Amino acid sequence: MPLQEHNYWLTTAQFPAAHASHPLPEIVDVAVIGAGFTGLSAARTLAKRGAKVALLESETIGWGASSRNGGMVLTGLKLGVNKLISMYGRELTQRMYAASLATIDCVEQIIRDEAIDCDFSRCGHLEVACKQRHFDDYARQAEVIAREFHHTLRVVPKNELSAEIGSNIYYGGMVDEVSSGLNPARYVAGLARAARKAGAEIFEHTRVERIERDFRQGEAGWKILTSRGPIWAHEVFVGTSGYTGRATPALQKKLIPIGSFIITTEVLPEKLALELSPRNRMIYDSKNYLYYYRLTPDRRMLFGGRAAFFPETDQTVRQSAAILRRGMIDVYPQLSDAKIDYVWGGTLDFAFDIMPHAGQLDGMYYAVGYAGHGVAMATFQGQKIAELMAGDKPENPFVGIKFPGAPLGLYNGRPWFLPFAGAWYKFLDWVT
Ligand SMILES: Cc1cc2nc3c(=O)[nH]c(=O)nc-3n(C[C@H](O)[C@H](O)[C@H](O)COP(=O)(O)OP(=O)(O)OC[C@H]3O[C@@H](n4cnc5c(N)ncnc54)[C@H](O)[C@@H]3O)c2cc1C
Repeated sequence: MPLQEHNYWLTTAQFPAAHASHPLPEIVDVAVIGAGFTGLSAARTLAKRGAKVALLESETIGWGASSRNGGMVLTGLKLGVNKLISMYGRELTQRMYAASLATIDCVEQIIRDEAIDCDFSRCGHLEVACKQRHFDDYARQAEVIAREFHHTLRVVPKNELSAEIGSNIYYGGMVDEVSSGLNPARYVAGLARAARKAGAEIFEHTRVERIERDFRQGEAGWKILTSRGPIWAHEVFVGTSGYTGRATPALQKKLIPIGSFIITTEVLPEKLALELSPRNRMIYDSKNYLYYYRLTPDRRMLFGGRAAFFPETDQTVRQSAAILRRGMIDVYPQLSDAKIDYVWGGTLDFAFDIMPHAGQLDGMYYAVGYAGHGVAMATFQGQKIAELMAGDKPENPFVGIKFPGAPLGLYNGRPWFLPFAGAWYKFLDWVT
């Protein structure tokens, strides 16, 4: 089969029909913007609590990062624990780490409750060290995580690594058995079905263009102008992640959209697949400009990375296929003859402090900033912010932490500095 510039996961999933042609309701309790994990998880929770919910999606269900990702359901945050403790102190970091573990349970619980058929498995993740220095740091990290968070990570020295991965380029690894894997397109399609079953209405091809404070019969709310006409909502929840745009300018200025790209090989022979990943882990390496990879349930090697920093375009996707194939063969020379069947890209969102953020901005609720850890965290934040909106006080240590903008405020939502950031990370990988 010739290489297809297409998201492989979409070939495995069926999406529910949405309410594209239905007229928008005039008034709702909550308008949720974005039909990815964040928005769908929020819509499901709010609708279950009895709210009238309209979910507005400019493209189609799961069109954003939620159907395009590696399907790695990961514990921890993007920043290391020592960095987190230096930023937030021990107590808040302990709550954040506990929340990161709770995100996996949250995903598992929803999948179980809604009977979502998405190949969820607690297969664990493996981080592999690209330098001796990185490996030496694993023991220190595992010790801090055991002491501060009572969570066990297993450090794997180089001479035992073949039990985890069929590559000999790494200096050792670290395993977390709690992390999981799933098929993201099937998961996001299942979340959409669950949100609709709970009573939320999903409107595809409905781009939110402007949101204005408004009063209706003396009640404060929001007038939302969309490509399909206006809608009035008591509350707004924004879950637009890396695709956040001009409709929410304050949020857009706080987020950097970054491209990430993935290739998948043809289906591999069983013996070769077992050699590459004997325990079927979700794997990523220790670089800033990192590679992440795993086997798909039908035994393809899925290999991803930030082959270009810019969000996906035809050009960056095409270039990425060649770059990622070279990276994959460096890790696994056994795959030199494997055909690449699919390549695609997507956009994820980084806050300037590389932390997840959730709460209220300009009076609207939001949850963003997952920095490549969004499968679990987006699901969790959608649910927790929805509970907050419904009047609960859920444990959520990411609400209320400082949400910094660009240094000196020099950013209008157009990431002109990405080539410099990309070069900077490559430089860091060289020297650290
Ligand atoms: C290639 C890739 C690989 C990744 N791998 C992993 C991984 O293995 N593990 C992990 O944990 N995370 C991973 N991530 C990150 C993860 O996919 C995201 O963090 C997560 O999907 C974010 O979900 P979301 O619902 O917040 O946003 P999205 O799924 O991006 O959805 C946002 C939606 O908002 C819509 N939207 C935007 N503006 C408007 C508007 N004005 N009106 C209406 N709708 C609008 C968009 O069309 C989009 O559908 C990866 C991301 C990418 C791109």
